[in-house]
Amino acid sequence: MIREIIPVSSLEDALDAIHDGTCLIAGGTEVNRLGSPRENDAVIPIDRLLPREIIREGRRLTIGAGCTLQDLCDSTEAPVVIRSAAKRAASRTLRTMATVGGNIASRRDDSYLNAVLTSYGAILTVLKTEGARRVEIEEYLLHPQGIILEATVSDVTMPAAFRRISRSSQGPCALVCAVGYDLAAQRWRAAASATSLGTQRLFWVEALLQEPQIPEAEAITRAAGGEWSPAPDVAGSREYKQYLLGVCIRECAEEIRRTGS
Ligand SMILES: Cc1cc2nc3c(=O)[nH]c(=O)nc-3n(C[C@H](O)[C@H](O)[C@H](O)COP(=O)(O)OP(=O)(O)OC[C@H]3O[C@@H](n4cnc5c(N)ncnc54)[C@H](O)[C@@H]3O)c2cc1C
Repeated sequence: MIREIIPVSSLEDALDAIHDGTCLIAGGTEVNRLGSPRENDAVIPIDRLLPREIIREGRRLTIGAGCTLQDLCDSTEAPVVIRSAAKRAASRTLRTMATVGGNIASRRDDSYLNAVLTSYGAILTVLKTEGARRVEIEEYLLHPQGIILEATVSDVTMPAAFRRISRSSQGPCALVCAVGYDLAAQRWRAAASATSLGTQRLFWVEALLQEPQIPEAEAITRAAGGEWSPAPDVAGSREYKQYLLGVCIRECAEEIRRTGS
């Protein structure tokens, strides 16, 4: 339960104020959620200090960390795949509070955005004690440090697709996976999020996708047996999630080949 709010007038002050027992709060939908692992006595509100613009310059898209998921859904600048991922937060009330930075930083196994942004090769600008630094999203997810200021996708025309599998829009999620095709490098990018693994870039899937033919779902599922092993939970067994990964990666890759978007 939050007992203290520590007001700050700059993000630098917010960074200084972080210590054991305090945490940042933006939309508050993860920090304040029932059963949240992030329950803290003292919080540092940063929502009014974070950038909130979504800016498109040519092919480059910059999403301010303070944008809400609803801002992202409504943006005509963002590609459909990123907008749809934000929309998987099924309640509009939640979407108008939850921020993009908070979603990335929460590093949840069922993040709406992390797999999709990883498949786009997003770069985060993160404020650290030594100043603002640019960090690949997959690096941040492994070693979270500092305050996320914005996420940048260098080419929003990159074809991409994603799947989020759950029994109902509000139900626990078995898998989020995303695939993108980097047109400049002519390389596939793939990522997935699932229980106990968080969001991971799937280099072994990318290698399979580089073959001339899109691999069969069964081949991806077989390879997942040795490479990707999420914990079983109420959303499904390990084997079911590996099966889903094979089917969903293949579907995403076919969608990209078929539509080029
Ligand atoms: C009913 C319900 C269902 C939910 N389902 C899902 C789900 O399926 N998938 C999912 O991903 N989330 C889910 N959430 C959690 C949450 O709504 C989202 O993850 C949301 O995007 C978090 O953003 P926020 O701004 O509310 O974060 P906050 O609660 O404000 O913060 C979350 C964490 O991120 C840190 N943080 C916030 N902003 C920054 C920043 N700019 N830089 C660094 N650290 C920061 C905070 O210190 C805190 O540790 C659910 C929440 C509820 C209540």
